[in-house]
Amino acid sequence: MMLLSDSVKYIKGVGPKKAEALGKLGINTVYDLLTYYPRTYEDQSVVTPIAELRPGEQVAVLGTIMNLQEKQGGRRGLSILTAMIGDGTGFLSVTWFNQKFLKNKLKPGKRLFVTGKASYAYGGRGQFAMSRLHSFEVLEPEEEVESLCGILPVYPATEKLNQKFFRKIMSTLLQEDLPQMELPELIPAGISRHCQLLPRREALAAIHFPENLSELKDARNRLAFEELYLIQCGLMLLKKKGKQEGKGIRHLSNSRQVKSLGESLPFQLTADQQKAWRDICKDMESPLPMRRLVQGDVGSGKTVIAMLALVKTVENGFQGAMMAPTEILAEQHYEGFVKQLAPLGIKVGFLSGSLTKKKREEMHAAIAAGEYDIVVGTHALIQEEVAFARLGLVVTDEQHRFGIDQRAALEKKGALTPDVLVMTATPIPRTMTLTVYGDLDVSLIKQLPPGRQPIRTFVRQPDRRELIYRYVRTQLEEGRQAYVVCPMIEGSEDSDLPSAEEVYDELRYGIFYGLSCGLVHGRMKAAEKEQVMQDFYDNKVKLLVSTTVIEVGVNVPNASMMVIEHADRFGLAQLHQLRGRIGRGPYKSYCILVSEGKTENARERLKIMESTTDGFQLAEEDLRLRGPGQFFGRRQHGLPDLKIADVLGDMDILLKAREAAAATLENREDMDFVLPVLAAQYREQFARITEL
Ligand code: ADP
Ligand code: MG
Repeated sequence: MMLLSDSVKYIKGVGPKKAEALGKLGINTVYDLLTYYPRTYEDQSVVTPIAELRPGEQVAVLGTIMNLQEKQGGRRGLSILTAMIGDGTGFLSVTWFNQKFLKNKLKPGKRLFVTGKASYAYGGRGQFAMSRLHSFEVLEPEEEVESLCGILPVYPATEKLNQKFFRKIMSTLLQEDLPQMELPELIPAGISRHCQLLPRREALAAIHFPENLSELKDARNRLAFEELYLIQCGLMLLKKKGKQEGKGIRHLSNSRQVKSLGESLPFQLTADQQKAWRDICKDMESPLPMRRLVQGDVGSGKTVIAMLALVKTVENGFQGAMMAPTEILAEQHYEGFVKQLAPLGIKVGFLSGSLTKKKREEMHAAIAAGEYDIVVGTHALIQEEVAFARLGLVVTDEQHRFGIDQRAALEKKGALTPDVLVMTATPIPRTMTLTVYGDLDVSLIKQLPPGRQPIRTFVRQPDRRELIYRYVRTQLEEGRQAYVVCPMIEGSEDSDLPSAEEVYDELRYGIFYGLSCGLVHGRMKAAEKEQVMQDFYDNKVKLLVSTTVIEVGVNVPNASMMVIEHADRFGLAQLHQLRGRIGRGPYKSYCILVSEGKTENARERLKIMESTTDGFQLAEEDLRLRGPGQFFGRRQHGLPDLKIADVLGDMDILLKAREAAAATLENREDMDFVLPVLAAQYREQFARITEL
């Protein structure tokens, strides 16, 4: 009998070569294959005669290959293969780009079965072309087309592993092996019943070869629920465990130092800041450890909230740690903290990888001896050698750059369980907050401090660059500073795009001749980068050309202009982050998005930037337009990739899954069922729960 953990090579039709190719896709076991879900489906119940094609309709066509042409096209000479097929009622041309290897398969005389969208062929009287090809198969002489009909799965295929292969082994697996296989349920029976879920075995069979659309929907529902439910269980357990584990610290209500910090601030907290601060005080004063996310748009004033919380822990006799994702940001925080807190008699230290080994060791010793009240730093703070004398609060800034694991590492650094505050400017849509940050409580800072000059944003064509930069120059001559952001560092494949280096040279020897310009990008050495940033910070550099390394947190209030080249290359959330670097001082600020805006979609996206500065709205749009993977960058959040659920589209399933997970946590028996499942399925992500 076959086991889920068996190698795929035991499946009929999978030899060692194919097994190896499958391995490259991350499919090693029978279970991996079973959960290699179709990318989409096609309804091939009807084959349409070519004469009856309607432009724009999704169709399946079967014809004989009449001829095959190969051309070179485009600047980079990509190969274009065009097959003309006929079925006795008309002709249809089908085109493949850059798939030279198909030449040997698409032999005239063979029958070709294609699905996709057809349109009128360009200039060909009454002829059709497949304008959007979904799938195709070359049929062997004896092969019946009937075997292809019905709702068919479309898998992410590769050159070595085509659709036909996947469909074949999948159907062998499902028909011959699955019925005898042991297949444990992953959801407690009570929950399955209550939510009326399809049994797992049926769902897995139907997700690959559904009888009809309604069965497909049920199968998808069930599997998406399962995925979201388990992750929610994991996150909720993490949260609960975080709150119970060890002894939390019970801070006292605010006293002298917190109050004098409040009085020494040059401004009043905004209502949202006050609310966040109240949430934090309540958490810190409770005996359970705090796990809170402060989510506030760029410039909304999160730092001061962090500072207050850190002073609160110091006032209670503990040490506070603040971790920033970059050196420059850590340094900025450090300087700001020293300035504000030294007068209150609070000792602030700095720890980063850039310190000499000797200096670092001294810091380690001093931190362990409790000589510093607050330590600001980078990743260096979570190295193993760092031990705090009495850690009371950990703040991580711009948290989306840290994974769950790193967060956990810092939390472990105290004898008592320290309170944890994470801050992010990435406006995270609610669906994501529930998944990625499901283990945290959330405070929102939506309003900006009063008196900010709103940033005005314009989308402009590249032919206006000269004018734009001339205007920037006049601003610099009036004493302001400016950023120029480019998507690329230097000659990458996309040779159309000027690199940051090229733009830098063009500008400093051109329009900005005589003004001091600087360049930073990700491939520079850390020290060089720091130096340029520092010079910009100190107003020694007036114009800073950069890639997106400046994205996070840098605060130069004198900078009032930003030009973003090839703005269509960036996501909206990212553009918003970039734009947040300006408009931080009393000056009118302008952000110019330079883009040809070739496509409708690109234009539409950039127009949204002109019309709103609401980061939350932009993030929702961005997530909608680009999908969650792009939005967060791969694996930054430390959660498993979703195999089937869609955080945007499956909000209703997500809410049900959350509800079910909450009920599970209250049910001893169901917990006994779910814990081993989590241990097996999500060992990496939820190691801390399963340590139990
Ligand atoms: P972010 O949330 O992006 O980290 P910061 O904490 O860096 O924002 O704050 C941006 C600027 O706003 C800082 O110069 C800070 O001093 C200022 N600021 C913060 N809160 C207020 C407030 N309530 N009123 C006026 N200015 C404020
Ligand atoms: Mg900040």
